[in-house]
Amino acid sequence: MQKVTYAKGDGIGPEIMDATIKILDAANVRVDWEEIKIGEKVYLSGNTSGIDKVAWDSIRKNKIFLKAPITTPQGGGYKSLNVTMRKTLGLYANVRPCNSFHPFIKTKHPNMDVVIIRENEEDLYAGIEHQQTNEVVQCLKLITRPGCEKIIRYAFEYAKLYNRKKVSCFTKDNIMKQTDGLFHQVFKEISQEYPEIESENWIIDIGAARLADTPEIFDVVVMPNLYGDIVSDITAQISGSVGLAGSSNIGSSCAMFEAIHGSAPDIAGKNIANPSGLLRGAVMMLNHIGQQDVAEKIINAWACAIEDGIHTADIYKEDISREKVGTDAFADAVIKRLGLRPKYIKPESFTKDIKLNLPSYTRKPKANKVLKGVDVFVDWDGEKVDELAKKLKSMESDIKLSMITNRGIKVWPEGFEETFCTDHWRCRFEVENGHSAKKESILNTLSKALDGGVDVIKTENLYEFDGVRGYSLGQGQ
Ligand code: NAD
Repeated sequence: MQKVTYAKGDGIGPEIMDATIKILDAANVRVDWEEIKIGEKVYLSGNTSGIDKVAWDSIRKNKIFLKAPITTPQGGGYKSLNVTMRKTLGLYANVRPCNSFHPFIKTKHPNMDVVIIRENEEDLYAGIEHQQTNEVVQCLKLITRPGCEKIIRYAFEYAKLYNRKKVSCFTKDNIMKQTDGLFHQVFKEISQEYPEIESENWIIDIGAARLADTPEIFDVVVMPNLYGDIVSDITAQISGSVGLAGSSNIGSSCAMFEAIHGSAPDIAGKNIANPSGLLRGAVMMLNHIGQQDVAEKIINAWACAIEDGIHTADIYKEDISREKVGTDAFADAVIKRLGLRPKYIKPESFTKDIKLNLPSYTRKPKANKVLKGVDVFVDWDGEKVDELAKKLKSMESDIKLSMITNRGIKVWPEGFEETFCTDHWRCRFEVENGHSAKKESILNTLSKALDGGVDVIKTENLYEFDGVRGYSLGQGQ
């Protein structure tokens, strides 16, 4: 018997979890269920993380977690529990299959069958944010080589295992050359190891537009965290309803399964939510724990109910559907069809004990890192940038002021008076070409800033790695 931790969550969570477990139990799942409480009630009891130690212990012991959606209270310093769980448990791969069930579920895209593979641990979801001046807040976007390698390799191994033909990568590396640039670079490197699988890169804006318009040209799509969050909701929605897609969050020791949608407070407690997203997440879980027989029985019964026109309100259409049912009655309709195979929707047949073959990350040899200068960020509410430059010049040592930018745009030397400036200035001090800087030079510059009354809010060192510049130029530089 496999022990599985589950949580009913908030909003529609309890309704769709009850329906899901009822179906799994009726299909004779070989699972010993252990319930934990997480989410809104835990948050509001004063625990800002939304989860207590007993719940953590259960998940870490059982390693398999089926989770209904939860509500993150707005404001008040509450951190998203979903993000915390994915990161704390190292669930780096978020897999979200979205396919259409034409003509039984209305969609403009009858032939779509796309799997979104979303990086789950880093990017802007590091949640490292600061207010730095009166006018400016910032959020750090962290992209790492191990993070990119793990998720991109996962996408290719997934494609290989499930006999998919193409992996597409979505980034915005024309703008974010370091962060998204690294993701794209690692994609290029890893795709070489899989010559049998087609690979392609899209700039996210046009890629997302094409995915929304012509999803059938995509197969597996891999992308950084934030893009994956947004694009997978769009992809599920255009397949018929956001209530249809399930997802798995896979790590090297634990795995969490859920619906992709949220707790839908607008329809909570009305017994009208579609339990299909969570049920399909549970089917992914059954595949993961080696119960393909049960997974197959459930997904085929589900397809029979959909084919028979037994639909919840979100997918109900008078010209297609036969009966509009609530959450509970939909679960009963699936249970009634356990053991049947769909006539029109392609029946699923899962292969026993398939496992992704993922090598662990090996750290690369250390590059030769050379200090070239420093970006000093300054809070200054003056208007004439030449005045700021004059103050900064007095902070020079062997590192010299080479540029000032405001929101990334070069405003000194030779800025335009049309450029709008805030009170947040990035002041770049660099050594001359061919030379390297010392940490002492930076300390010297900062100490002069203190003496000269320049309000330094942070610094970023400028490095070259094996002779390659590891920092972006100013826009207009
Ligand atoms: P949502 O996904 O909860 O709802 C968006 C819309 O889709 C609503 O109109 C809702 O009624 C509908 N919908 C969602 N699931 C449905 C289903 N199964 N059946 C029928 N209709 C369904 O998104 P939201 O309203 O932006 O977020 C609500 C709360 O959920 C927020 O507190 C958010 O933080 C949380 N959330 C949680 C998760 C998670 O736990 N994994 C994910 C996303 C959002």
